[in-house]
Amino acid sequence: TPLLAIETSCDDTACAILDANGTVLSEALLSQESHAALGGVVPEIAARAHLDILPNLVDLTLERAGLTLGDIAHFAATTGPGLIGGLIVGSNYAKGLALSQGKPFIGINHIEGHILTPRLPSALADEGITLSFPYLAMLVSGGHCQCVSVEETGHYRRLGGTIDDSAGEAFDKVAKMLGLGWPGGPALEKLATEGDDTAYSLPRPLKGRDGCDFSFSGLKTAVSRLIEPYGKAALSHRVAADLAASFQRAVADVMADRAEHALALAPQATALVVAGGVAANRTLRARLESVAERHAIPFLAPPLRLCTDNAVMIGWAALERLAQGERPNDITIAPRPRWPLSERQPYRSSSVE
Ligand code: ATP
Ligand code: FE
Repeated sequence: TPLLAIETSCDDTACAILDANGTVLSEALLSQESHAALGGVVPEIAARAHLDILPNLVDLTLERAGLTLGDIAHFAATTGPGLIGGLIVGSNYAKGLALSQGKPFIGINHIEGHILTPRLPSALADEGITLSFPYLAMLVSGGHCQCVSVEETGHYRRLGGTIDDSAGEAFDKVAKMLGLGWPGGPALEKLATEGDDTAYSLPRPLKGRDGCDFSFSGLKTAVSRLIEPYGKAALSHRVAADLAASFQRAVADVMADRAEHALALAPQATALVVAGGVAANRTLRARLESVAERHAIPFLAPPLRLCTDNAVMIGWAALERLAQGERPNDITIAPRPRWPLSERQPYRSSSVE
């Protein structure tokens, strides 16, 4: 009884088919390249691209699994949060498929997808670990930065989040100041390996503060002040590398501190999990790993392709709900650009038996 899932909340168009126990039968993902030249995701362009790509991508995913539409038992799609144009395209397409086949449609919260993915049977297979509740999930991506205690499927306690930029945005903006391309995170990390991370003293916003909120805009401003004196002249490689390393260290410091505070708020956590594109950063990983070690719990990060946006995570979140005995049919729910995890959609109200 396979399930087909679609993800279109940002600039990746993705489709995946999973069987009932979470084995990935096939997947296809296209990252829209056009945004790089524009220095960021342009919502209108992204929505049109999703519309262009999606039909072929779904066909390709079915073909790769050796299945036809008639074999699919459930259709799932991201219905928020995210860029509304893409959400409308993806969820309407999935709803259309569901209606055409007389099968249920399941609307999934994108963040729920990210934070449940480490439980996908293949996610941590290398570590030989199956993740049980409750655990602490730090979601650090281009669009999100928050800390959630995952108590069980559908029961999430948000411990804190960013009060300004996401961690990914901070990396991208600082990378831009340093003259690196977009997305900036990977380029900044690479440059930082050549720099001295103690060269500049930068602020650690909210470090030591109670709770688990994040703030990055002050850090970003501090970097821009340091760059100001150079005017329009290109930074020397040395200065840029030192700034990159110092910035990255400041972010990792703050993250480690926030993780400590989060674990104080969720002392029963059985593991510390990171997800989101920024989880690729090795300095950050190392720091979080040492926090987990101090608390004698494992530090887990799914492989990067499952950390960044993908459709497997949407399919998995749908399967988790089905496994709980829910029989959702969300055909009438509308996509939401903002959708806090605490609001668990009017799932049941629209249930049909
Ligand atoms: P979201 O997942 O929140 O909808 P998104 O699609 O922008 O948004 P991801 O694809 O998960 O997010 O992550 C992209 C972000 O991760 C970018 O901001 C990018 O700069 C950052 N990133 C990627 N690799 C690294 C790295 N090695 N170090 C730091 N940041 C990184
Ligand atoms: Fe995402």
